[in-house]
Amino acid sequence: MENLAPQEGLIERIYWLIRLRWIAVAGVIFTVLSIEKIANIPLRSLTLYTIAFILGVYNLIFFLYLNRIKRNSPPDLPTIANRVANIQISLDLLSLTALIHFSGGIENPFIFYFIFHMIIASILLSRRASYLQATFATALFILMVSLEYFNFLEHHYLNGFVAYSLHANKIYILGISVAFISTLYLAVYMATSISVKLRQKEKILQEANLLLEEKDRIKSNYVLRVSHDIKEHLSAIQGCLDPVLQGLTGELNPGQKDLVRRSSERTGKLMSFVRALLEITRIKLSKEMETGPFSLRKTAENAVNFVEARAKDKDMRLSYNIDPAVDVITGAQIYIEETIANLLANSVKYTPKGGRVDMKIKDKGDSVLIQISDTGIGISKDDIPRIFDEFYRAKNAKALERDGTGLGLSIAKEVIERHKGKIWVESEEGKGSTFNIVLPK
Ligand code: ADP
Repeated sequence: MENLAPQEGLIERIYWLIRLRWIAVAGVIFTVLSIEKIANIPLRSLTLYTIAFILGVYNLIFFLYLNRIKRNSPPDLPTIANRVANIQISLDLLSLTALIHFSGGIENPFIFYFIFHMIIASILLSRRASYLQATFATALFILMVSLEYFNFLEHHYLNGFVAYSLHANKIYILGISVAFISTLYLAVYMATSISVKLRQKEKILQEANLLLEEKDRIKSNYVLRVSHDIKEHLSAIQGCLDPVLQGLTGELNPGQKDLVRRSSERTGKLMSFVRALLEITRIKLSKEMETGPFSLRKTAENAVNFVEARAKDKDMRLSYNIDPAVDVITGAQIYIEETIANLLANSVKYTPKGGRVDMKIKDKGDSVLIQISDTGIGISKDDIPRIFDEFYRAKNAKALERDGTGLGLSIAKEVIERHKGKIWVESEEGKGSTFNIVLPK
């Protein structure tokens, strides 16, 4: 694991490096300007700006290239990403050497900025590659210092910063070189030690996560099988109770009729529970949902029709308003209709007689916002974070309505998240609730 390359998330880290480089470009321009204008030290500013420009150009090229490979996602993406990270760091070291050379060489205190590159390399690359980059940085440093020392390269004296040029002073060169090179390698040693440990931990967590996912899948399969069997038996029981209740098997006395009616009701409730359980398990197990274009307007109207009678029974005012711009979106129509119907049914269920339920659908450009509000019992602050959990029912809901599965909202959440949307609730106990859904078109 010593040389474990940080392939997971490497692309994101390279984007981070690209963002840092934009800051570096701005930093170079700002520093050159300040040194010249404020500190009055003459610099080869045009050359330094040109290097900053080159830095910006290759940063842009890398940004576009990375976007492309990320989109195409070739099978050897990790290898490509590794190579890109290595090339970028090498180019950065070259640019930094050029910047340092044109602004004082070994006399420039910014020479220690090489350390940042070592830390970046340790985060992005394997331990071996990081040491290679440290060696490359050392080689560039020695080359620059020697060429200036032997006058093969012009030395750009920092007039006004150092009293007299130090680039040919052997003791100074030796001192800075020892400090510089040891700092580079120490930085790589420390940063890689930390990042290798972090990567190992990350790997262990990922493996544990995979294992949990697999266990969850096994559990879901088990639940699916069991609830399917229970549903079959329940259907059979219901099939036996119905003719008895309808008197097809002979007249029942009132006591018998009451008992059979109650059994039939309980069977019905158990059946809805098992159906909900089957549904959420199926959604969880299915890798992809079948999607296609459909009219959200019609779908929402169907959902309203579904609860209209129940709202009327409770003397409630049920209204809706759909933005004229809202119509066709892409998704799993049946599931979306069911989700909206579910939220409306909950609003009707948890709102006392004479209350109001209102649905608004607004166009938000790339997405739609569906809001279902009621003047019902509301949800307490403590319950809000838990109501989307499977089987969870708030105390006030249980007091008002004994029956419920606590599965409706978890199904809704699963469906909306499968559509890359968001669902949340705003509520105040005793005043009412608003369920919000953002759905990408
Ligand atoms: P169920 O309604 O069967 O209990 P749900 O998953 O649909 O299950 O809802 C979970 C819980 O969220 C409910 O038990 C209730 O506590 C709360 N809840 C959902 N909708 C509302 C609402 N409109 N007003 C108040 N509480 C609600």
